[in-house]
Amino acid sequence: MKLATFEHDGAARIGVVTGKEIAPLAFSGTMIELISKWDALRGEAEAASKGQRLPLASVKLLAPVARPGKVFAIGLNYADHIAESKMETPKNQVWFTKAVTSINGPFAPILIGKTGPFVDYEVELVAVIGKGGRHISKEDAPKHVFGYCAGNDVTERFWQHRTPQWSLGKSFDTHGPIGPWITTADEAGDPHAMGLRCIVNGETRQSSNTQHLVFNIWEQIEHLSQAMTLEPGDLIFTGTPGGVGAAMDPRQFLKPGDIVRCEVDGLGAIEATLVAEA
Ligand code: ZN
Repeated sequence: MKLATFEHDGAARIGVVTGKEIAPLAFSGTMIELISKWDALRGEAEAASKGQRLPLASVKLLAPVARPGKVFAIGLNYADHIAESKMETPKNQVWFTKAVTSINGPFAPILIGKTGPFVDYEVELVAVIGKGGRHISKEDAPKHVFGYCAGNDVTERFWQHRTPQWSLGKSFDTHGPIGPWITTADEAGDPHAMGLRCIVNGETRQSSNTQHLVFNIWEQIEHLSQAMTLEPGDLIFTGTPGGVGAAMDPRQFLKPGDIVRCEVDGLGAIEATLVAEA
C-alpha cells in the first residue's frame, strides 16, 4: 500500500495512492498515529482504497511524516561516495542527525539559506520505522520497518565540514524532503535491490542501487537501537551513492532555479526547485 499525506481543504489528511488517484482515509490522525495503530487501522485503509478517489494531480502532497520523532542519517555508506569523498571505509557506522524541522514536502521548494549558500543533494532510500523497540537484532529488523520512501539528504557543505560534527550542515530548514508517499514494506519488496538516482536540471548526477550499501538497513537498525529506542515514524536515511556536487571537478553547488529530482525505483520520485531564502 502507498500512504500519502496531502492537503485537503486546508487540513492535512492521509490517503491511499492507487495509480494516479488518491483515496482519503476517514482516519483524521497523523501518519505517526496511523503507523502506531496500523494493525487496527490497516483494514480501514484497505477499504478506503476501494472507495471514493481524487485525482492525485488535484491534491498537494505533503511530507508523509510531517514531524518525525527522530531523523537519523548514515554517512559514507556507498563505496563510490567514500572514494569521491577521499575517506576510508568506516569500521563503525557513522551517524548524524538531521533536525526534525528540516523535513520538507516532496515537491516543496528547497531553500538556499542566507547564511549557507553551498547547498548539495544526496539521493537516499529512507526507511520509516513501524514497530518501535530497543536492542533490535538485524534478524528481527525487517519486522520493525513500516515502509520506505525517497529522500534527499540536502546538505550545506561549508557548515558540514567546518566542524567535525556534521549535524548543523545537514539540518537547514527545508533540507529534508521526503516522499512522495510511504510504500509499505510488504509492497516495496527487497530494500537492498532498488535503483536510485538524482537528476539535476535533467542531468543524471547520481545513479546506483541499494545493493551497494556498505552497512545494510538491518545492520543500521541493529546498531542504532543499541543506543536508543526507535519509535513509529522515525526516519532513517540509509546513505547516498557517489556523484554529489561537492565531489565534481569543479565543484557544483545548487543555484536558485535548479530543479532536483530524487527517485527510487518502485517508490516514486520527489522533485524540488531551489529558491534563495528571502
Ligand atoms: Zn546522506
